[in-house]
Amino acid sequence: MSHTYDVVIVGGGPAGIASAIEAKALGLTKVLMIEKGENHSQTIRKFYKDSKRVDKDYKGIVVELKGSVDFEDGTKESTLDYFDALLDNENIDTLFNLEVEKITKEKDVFRVTTSNVDYVAKNVIIAIGTMGKPNKPDYKTPSSLRDKVNFNINKSSEGEDVLVVGGGNSAIEYAIDLAQTNNVTLAYRKEKFTRVNDTNKKMLYEYSAEYGLEIKMNTDITSLEDENERPKVHFNDESYTVYDRVIYAIGGTAPVDFLKSSGVTFDENEKAILDKNFESETKGLYLAGDIAVRKGGSIAFALSHAYHIIAHITK
Ligand SMILES: Cc1cc2nc3c(=O)[nH]c(=O)nc-3n(C[C@H](O)[C@H](O)[C@H](O)COP(=O)(O)OP(=O)(O)OC[C@H]3O[C@@H](n4cnc5c(N)ncnc54)[C@H](O)[C@@H]3O)c2cc1C
Repeated sequence: MSHTYDVVIVGGGPAGIASAIEAKALGLTKVLMIEKGENHSQTIRKFYKDSKRVDKDYKGIVVELKGSVDFEDGTKESTLDYFDALLDNENIDTLFNLEVEKITKEKDVFRVTTSNVDYVAKNVIIAIGTMGKPNKPDYKTPSSLRDKVNFNINKSSEGEDVLVVGGGNSAIEYAIDLAQTNNVTLAYRKEKFTRVNDTNKKMLYEYSAEYGLEIKMNTDITSLEDENERPKVHFNDESYTVYDRVIYAIGGTAPVDFLKSSGVTFDENEKAILDKNFESETKGLYLAGDIAVRKGGSIAFALSHAYHIIAHITK
């Protein structure tokens, strides 16, 4: 059994990193973290704009942190640096560029199958987040527009007519960030913003006044068309506008098939069945971070899940 890990952690975002750190702190020695990206924290790297403010009490929700991983307000860069330092200082055994494809329980252990090698573990923590699969609209995006229809702002450049779709903090932060150098419209299907923190809300209205950021509430998109390689967007009031770029920030979805085939069971609302320690009905198989909550996750929640799971494993 010398190659049997105490815990294999799938995913190297905040929940995965904190699980590895807490595991070491609470005395587990054989700990392995597997991350499919070329570096840790792919959601922060790909979906946060540069210099983004990172709030610990995200959306105003205060999470009391226990355990070894502390976390404070900062920026995208300071947050990534912090997680870098944690992984380096604690010498966490990590494999990058490796995707976990399947988890199978075999008697008392788990076989964790990757594209390369299988790993055997007594416990597995799935901490894969939901942003590997960003939510997409129901209508079709013409394939010719793939470059102009995005799920983060990385491809944007200055002087574009941009439509940002969504009503959460991510959508508002994207709109605010682009508004100084672009002609930005924010479209949200509801009549009010309900999931947005006060700072973002205040900045949105300031930017609307100062930079002409247009806010379209009660607005749904019905279809997208290619008009000379630019997205022509049809709205539910039968109007349309042609933009240079459309950016969707409408959250992400749990890869339910992966979870089900790994032994996670779901209730009638397609919500993973977990106990108070975030353990699934397959004993020894845990979910941490965004994947455990599906909606309304945060870095602090991810850290808190990690602590509770490891405390339960080591009890
Ligand atoms: C634009 C935006 C802004 C945000 N701002 C804030 C903020 O200010 N404050 C805050 O607290 N929260 C913020 N959040 C939320 C926060 O980023 C998440 O709650 C947090 O990243 C969740 O951590 P996680 O470890 O559960 O998942 P993730 O951070 O999504 O990490 C999951 C990791 O698993 C990897 N992975 C996925 N599948 C596999 C696989 N099969 N095999 C191996 N690896 C895999 C991924 O590559 C990824 O690195 C924001 C989110 C977004 C999108």
